[in-house]
Amino acid sequence: MALIVHKYGGTSMGSTERIRNVAKRVAKWSRAGYQMVVVPSAMSGETNRLLGLAKELSADGSSPELQRELDMIASTGEQVSVGLLAIALQAEGVEAVSYAGWQVAVTTDSSFTKARIESIDDVRVRADLAAGRVVVIAGFQGVDAQGNITTLGRGGSDTSAVAIAAAMKADECMIYTDVDGVYTTDPRIVPEARRLNTISFEEMLEMASLGSKVLQTRSVEFAGKYRVPLRVLSSFTPWDIAIELEAKSGTLISFEEDEKMEQAVVSGIAFNRDEAKVTLLGVPDKPGIAFQILGPVADANIDIDVIIQNVARDGKTDFSFTVHRNDYVRTMALLETTVGPAIQAALVLGDPRICKVSIVGIGMRSHVGVASKMFRALSEEGINIQMISTSEIKTSVVLDEKYMELAVRALHKAFDLEQA
Ligand code: ADP
Ligand code: ASP
Ligand code: MG
Repeated sequence: MALIVHKYGGTSMGSTERIRNVAKRVAKWSRAGYQMVVVPSAMSGETNRLLGLAKELSADGSSPELQRELDMIASTGEQVSVGLLAIALQAEGVEAVSYAGWQVAVTTDSSFTKARIESIDDVRVRADLAAGRVVVIAGFQGVDAQGNITTLGRGGSDTSAVAIAAAMKADECMIYTDVDGVYTTDPRIVPEARRLNTISFEEMLEMASLGSKVLQTRSVEFAGKYRVPLRVLSSFTPWDIAIELEAKSGTLISFEEDEKMEQAVVSGIAFNRDEAKVTLLGVPDKPGIAFQILGPVADANIDIDVIIQNVARDGKTDFSFTVHRNDYVRTMALLETTVGPAIQAALVLGDPRICKVSIVGIGMRSHVGVASKMFRALSEEGINIQMISTSEIKTSVVLDEKYMELAVRALHKAFDLEQA
């Protein structure tokens, strides 16, 4: 009997009416003979509301003790969802049981608010499935070796679902959301964006890690590592749509490389406002300087993304890099008080109002001139590029945040990504 994992996001679980709809859809699959594991998120807005309450009581968002409590609080959103969904399924006449992450158990490391799944024990879940029950497991949460509740980072229910599908060797993991698949770019920014029937795993991984929040990056990593068939589709189709039709809808994350060969050079455009730029001016140009700057930043557990170092003049150079915006204040403090004086930099500058826009496509491996086409499209809009970073299948540019939407639209057009 085929085993399917369904994941429903916050909007899909947004009201009791919607939860009833989810239950009807899952009941349809269950009655058709599929073994069903369902992983819901908290009701939309709930995680923000819970974290907002915590913020009202504490100004300091970084201590490990506080992070532990944040997970204790935020995980309750999903706990409510699984209980409600199990009740709704029972009301549909389907046997269903709900579990929190620790009851399964979904075991993680102890990095509160961004924990990584280490193992999943499927014994209890298998027993329920064998007894004919639908199993509803809370997304986003787990438990560490000391029994503390952990969460997997924002958007983490995607990762819960794919990891459970991987552990249980499910036939498919279906991510139901408020759009009907993965688009060439966020359809909220570019209404002309086109839905992709398939996207290669590598492209999806780039898109997610460069800012497309339709799937959490780690969920795509899990899918790649364990070869989990993964599909993104809409929870807003009528619940009683034929299963054969539903099973083919949305976007399939594909592991077949060849089928993309004839397709567009650029498959999608990703963007994010999550980064900030820092610059050290007048840095001595000598061996070891990059290490002297970036070593202390890495030691402070701050991730570095794009880096540029200018050509030196009179033995001095300028050095810029980007960090997550949440780490901006900490990075600036480190550069101003420690790193800058140690290397005798003339000035430390910071700019939190940047964005990163990226074009992604495995076709870029075999085509030249893709980056230059990107730069031309941006220059025609009068947009200044502050930094550039490339890899085999992507080119990213750092821009003033105010140009983000204009840049995404211009690039979407320049690479002919609109609907036919
Ligand atoms: P859920 O609550 O179901 O997890 P999310 O809000 O996390 O939903 O993800 C779905 C959203 O992702 C869409 O509403 C859309 O605005 C956004 N998104 C960003 N990039 C893309 C893309 N390339 N294709 C589709 N949706 C995208
Ligand atoms: N509820 C969590 C969040 O809002 C996890 C998720 O929705 O995937 O980030
Ligand atoms: Mg999500």
